[in-house]
Amino acid sequence: MRPPGRPKGGSPSAQREGNPVSAALRVRGLNAWYGPAQALFDFDLDVAAGEVVALIGRNGAGKSTTLKAIMGLARATGTIELGGERIDGMASHARARRGLGYVPEERRIFTDLTVRENLWVGARTRALDVEPLLALFPNLRRLLDRSAAQMSGGEQQMLALARTLAARPRMVLLDEPSEGMAPKIVAALAEAVARMKAQGVSVVLSEQNARFVARVADRALLLERGHVVGTAAGDELAQPGEAVRAVLGL
Ligand code: ATP
Repeated sequence: MRPPGRPKGGSPSAQREGNPVSAALRVRGLNAWYGPAQALFDFDLDVAAGEVVALIGRNGAGKSTTLKAIMGLARATGTIELGGERIDGMASHARARRGLGYVPEERRIFTDLTVRENLWVGARTRALDVEPLLALFPNLRRLLDRSAAQMSGGEQQMLALARTLAARPRMVLLDEPSEGMAPKIVAALAEAVARMKAQGVSVVLSEQNARFVARVADRALLLERGHVVGTAAGDELAQPGEAVRAVLGL
């Protein structure tokens, strides 16, 4: 038996007003489970086009689970709308076809393919337009015909993001992009996120790196044991207050 979810639908006032401008992403009452253990509780989120929202919290807080549940990779209940269309009943590949991109923590690139071949795979049925991707990640240009296995961890992280962007998603879920990355790579990733934002792509990212979050995010949700326990606006992220510092272990 599936555990009960919250009543579906947006807030009554949003429904009354007909919600004329649909958010790029709208999540209501998202709950997720691993077996009998609930890992995410009543999660709500609205993301505007070109907005970057960070999920921050300690290990095990539920950040990855939230992204997986939105992508359709965790057992979950709740309502998820992408550009006004309900996607919560769809398989993850169908969500991807509708413009949802996902870069998991364990970057899924094909190490037996070249960089260019990885980008082809990412583009799926679309023709691959490599130049906009190389504009985001100039370092990949000289690596295009090299096996992905020969790349550094940072280069692989860039490729993982470029591969997801090759499908031209309107919304990207990024799981701990800066984890284990050298400062130079973190700076390149921050630059790429800023450019995605400028192109109107929305981003939800999970992070523990407070500086990266301060650099890229418009706002953050603080997660603790699967619950949102607070929010922080962009300017608060640059000078984190007590709540953010506590969650990030600063
Ligand atoms: P991290 O940075 O360590 O990935 P997180 O905030 O992303 O942390 P989640 O990975 O979402 O946290 O984990 C949330 C909770 O769900 C934790 O209690 C974790 O132990 C549990 N969990 C995560 N993945 C699984 C799984 N595959 N099976 C069972 N429980 C899991």
